[in-house]
Amino acid sequence: MNNPLLEDHSLPPFSRIRAEHVLPAIRQLLDENRTAIASLLAADRVHDWDSLVRPLEDFDDRLNKAWSPVSHMNAVVNSDALREAYNACLPLLSEYATEIGQNRQLFEAYLQLTQSAEFGRLSSAQKKIIENALRDFRLSGVALEEAEKARFKEIAQDLSTSCSQFSDNLLDATQAWDKHIEDESLLSGIPESDRALARQSAQSKGKTGWLFTLEFPSYIAVMTYADNRDLRREFYVAYSTRASDQGPTAPQWDNSELMEKILALRHEEARLLGYQNYAELSLVCKMAQTPGQVVGFLKDLAARARPVAEDDLHELRRFAREHHGLEPLEAWDMSYYSEKLRQHKYALSQEELRPYFPVARVLTGLFAVVERLYGLDIRERSGVDTWHPDVKFFEIHDRSGELRGAFYIDLYARPNKRGGAWMDECIARRRLPDQVQKPVAYLTCNFTPPVGDDPALLRHDEVLTLFHEFGHGLHHLLTRVDYLGVSGIHGVEWDAVELPSQFMENFCWEHEALALISGHYRTGETLPDELFAKMIAAKNFQAGMQIERQLEFSLFDFLIHLEYDPSKGGRIYEILDRVRKEVAVFIPPAFNRFAHSFSHIFSGGYAAGYYSYKWAEVLSSDAFSRFQENGVFDPETGHSFLVNILEKGGSQPAMELFVAFRGREPKIDALLRHNGIAA
Ligand SMILES: [Zn+2]
Repeated sequence: MNNPLLEDHSLPPFSRIRAEHVLPAIRQLLDENRTAIASLLAADRVHDWDSLVRPLEDFDDRLNKAWSPVSHMNAVVNSDALREAYNACLPLLSEYATEIGQNRQLFEAYLQLTQSAEFGRLSSAQKKIIENALRDFRLSGVALEEAEKARFKEIAQDLSTSCSQFSDNLLDATQAWDKHIEDESLLSGIPESDRALARQSAQSKGKTGWLFTLEFPSYIAVMTYADNRDLRREFYVAYSTRASDQGPTAPQWDNSELMEKILALRHEEARLLGYQNYAELSLVCKMAQTPGQVVGFLKDLAARARPVAEDDLHELRRFAREHHGLEPLEAWDMSYYSEKLRQHKYALSQEELRPYFPVARVLTGLFAVVERLYGLDIRERSGVDTWHPDVKFFEIHDRSGELRGAFYIDLYARPNKRGGAWMDECIARRRLPDQVQKPVAYLTCNFTPPVGDDPALLRHDEVLTLFHEFGHGLHHLLTRVDYLGVSGIHGVEWDAVELPSQFMENFCWEHEALALISGHYRTGETLPDELFAKMIAAKNFQAGMQIERQLEFSLFDFLIHLEYDPSKGGRIYEILDRVRKEVAVFIPPAFNRFAHSFSHIFSGGYAAGYYSYKWAEVLSSDAFSRFQENGVFDPETGHSFLVNILEKGGSQPAMELFVAFRGREPKIDALLRHNGIAA
C-alpha cells in the first residue's frame, strides 16, 4: 500500500491521509524502531552521543512525524473511522513507550554515557537530555520487578485509552444536543451577528429558523445575551452536565466511571514508582518541589483574592436586584447580568468592541507586535496542503532572513472539532547532519466563524486567546536548541509552560499594540481612545471572581490526585464541594457536573498540574513588568526575552532562565497588581 504517513515529507500530506493508513503505518514504524534499537544495543561498543542518543532521537522524530498529523486530525476533523484507527494505535504506542522506558540495557547505556569522558564535553542541552532520560526511565518503571513492570505497562495502556475515551464522550455529548428555534421572540437580546450564525447553522442542516448548539461561540451568546431566562437555564443545564449522569443526554456518554478509573490508575502508577500519590509523582517534572508548596501557593492567593471576589458577587447580586428586580441570582444569570452590569458601569459591551477586531486585522497586528518585539517577519504561504479549507499556513523569518519555523492556524468552531484552544507540535526543531529541521506548529482555536459576507469579528477575550496560543507557538518555533529532547517546549517544566503564552496576553491591553491589532472592519479606524479608556477601566471587571474560579479548578485538580484513597474511591464531587466552600464565592447548583468535562485533567496533560496557569502567571506577570518599566516595545527587553526564554526551550531549568531574563527570582507582586488585588 502506498502510505502517505510513511513517506519522507517536510509537511504532512493531510489531504491524502486516510483512516486506513494509520494503523499499518504506526505498526510498521514501531516494528522498525524496535529492530533498530535492538541492533543498536547489540553492537559491542562503548556508547557515545552519536551512537546512542542521536539515533534514538531519529526514531522518535520519525514516529512523531507520522503520529502528529493523525492525532491532530483526530482532534480537529474527527470521524468514526479516524477515531477508531487513532484509538487502535494508543495501546500500541503506550506499550512501545513503556518498553523503551523499561529497557534495562538502554538505561545502562545512558548511565554509562554519564560516566564517560565525553559527557563533560557535551553541551548543557545535551546533558539535560541525558539527565531527563534517566529520570524518565525511572518514571517508566525501569527499576521495578518483572511482575510490577508488566502491571505498569497495563496501567499505562489503560490510562491512554481511558483518557481518549473521556475526550470522545465529551465531543459526542457536546454534539448530541442543540436547540432549534423557530419563534423569533425567543431570541430577544441576542445580537444580530450571533443570530446570523445560528441561522447559518440551521441552513447547513436544511432547516429554517435558528439552530443554537453547545459549541462555545453559540453557547456563550445565549448565556450572555438571551433575555429569556428559561432558555438560558435550558442551555446552562445542557452544557454543565455534558458527558455525565445528569442533564438531557444522560446517561449516554457518562464519564463517571472513566473518571474513577483514571484516578485509580494514576494512583496505582504513582505507588508502583514509590510515590505517595499521583500529585507527588506529577511534581517530579515541574518547578514546584512539594505538594505542600503548591497547595500553599493556591490557598494564599485564594485568601488574597477572596475579599475582591466577594465584593464582585455582592455588586452583581445588588445590581440584578435593584435594576432588574431579580432575586435570587442563579448560575444561568451570571453571564447575562455581568454583561448588563459591565454596560451599566463602564458603558461598554463586548459587542461594541467586536467590529474593531476583524480576524485578518488582528492576525496582521499580532504579527506586527512580534515583528517589533523580536525582529521577525511573518508571511502567509499559499498552496500548502491542509485538513480543512479554513486553515492558513504562515512562515516566520528573522531579521537575517533565516527561516525559523512555520505554523498552521485553524481558527473557527465547527462540527467534529474538539472545543477549546491549543498549540500543538507538528515538527520539532533539530540539527541534522546536513541541515536544520525547522519547527512547525498547529494553532487551534474555536472562534465565532465568519457569517455571510462579513469577516469573523473577534471578541476581545478571543483576541487574548489568540495571543495566548501564539505565545506557545513562539516558544515552540523560535527555539535555537539543536536537539529534539529539549527543543521548543520539549523538556520544559510543565508549570513553566504557560509563561510565554500568558506573557503575550498582556499586549492585548497596551495602547501601542492595540493600534496594530484593531481596525474597524468597515472603516479601518483603529480602536478609538474613548473605547480604549473604557476597556482599560473595565479590565479588572470581576477579576476577583475569575481568579477564585481558576483557583477552585486548580485546587480541585490537585487535591483529587493528592488525597486519592483506594479504599474510598475518587470522591470527586465531595472534594469539589469542599474546595468550593473554601474558595468559591458562588456555588453552582447540585446538578452541575463541571468535572465531567474537565478535559485538561482527564484527557490533557494537566493532571495535578492545572495550577500551572496561576504558577506561571507569577512568572509571566513579573516578566511583563520589565517591559512595562522599559517600554512595551523596548527592543533590548524584547531581545532579552527572546534569547533567555523563547530560544532556550527546555535546555535549562525554567528558574535559571527566568533569573537570566529578570535578574532575580520571580515575585508575586506584578500578578496581584495586574489583577487589581492589594499586595
Ligand atoms: Zn496555554
